Amino acid sequence: MPDALGVLAADAVQVLGGPRRDRIKACEGPGCAGLFLDTSRGGNRRWCSMNTCGNKVKKARLAAG
Ligand SMILES: [Zn+2]
Repeated sequence: MPDALGVLAADAVQVLGGPRRDRIKACEGPGCAGLFLDTSRGGNRRWCSMNTCGNKVKKARLAAG
């Protein structure tokens, strides 16, 4: 069985020391302090997860009219 945590840690080290480190961003979701690696082509991702924070922001916008 592969060591999933070890794989994630090794990947994080590569990201932090590699050319993608400027792609690490802070989530803009309300109340969320999550960091994420922006792997979108345009580098314009704003949330740690579209399914959680992205949806929260969308719903808040809809509620605000
Ligand atoms: Zn978030």
